[in-house]
Amino acid sequence: MPVYRNIGEFLEFINISNEESTLFEWKPEKSFRRFDLDLNIVKENPVSDIFFHKDKGNMKLAYIRRNGLLYTVGAHIRVQFQLLEALLEHVSFKFHEMYDVEVIMSYGDFTPAMFNGFKEVIEDIIKNFADLGLVKRIMVECRVCNTVLPLFVKKSMIENADSYPVPIVYVHEGHAILCFIDQNFHHRGVELVNITG
Ligand SMILES: [Zn+2]
Repeated sequence: MPVYRNIGEFLEFINISNEESTLFEWKPEKSFRRFDLDLNIVKENPVSDIFFHKDKGNMKLAYIRRNGLLYTVGAHIRVQFQLLEALLEHVSFKFHEMYDVEVIMSYGDFTPAMFNGFKEVIEDIIKNFADLGLVKRIMVECRVCNTVLPLFVKKSMIENADSYPVPIVYVHEGHAILCFIDQNFHHRGVELVNITG
């Protein structure tokens, strides 16, 4: 079964925090791992509204600071970052739809337990992720691997683009290809690119 049809199996955690503490955290049943160190690194990043990625060996992180909150997901390295971004975008949208976070946090007796009801929402998102229409799968040819690979892109990335085609770099197996995606989610060319960093 493709990863995105079964994304829950590949997730380590989803965390929603402010500067001080965690407001909500989802983990798979029977997971007792803690991710405080990863979350401390995430909090050091002051930039808003841009997704950041981090490779952690056997886990990858995607995170974004949005409306004063930090959204972080940890997943198995097999899950493409675009899937994780799409997931976090939807989680942040639903969280703000459900809660007036600023008002809730201003209560004198605020505790994170006030967000416990979000567990059901997030489990629904994870279970139905493939049917939410958040991502498109595009097949691209890599002439280094000499094979056709599935490339996932967020629909929002294409739909909110300033111009077309939209370039996306797909790093895999130690090399990268640059793919150009048009507004109909077709790729308009694939090039091998050099990488540094
Ligand atoms: Zn390749």
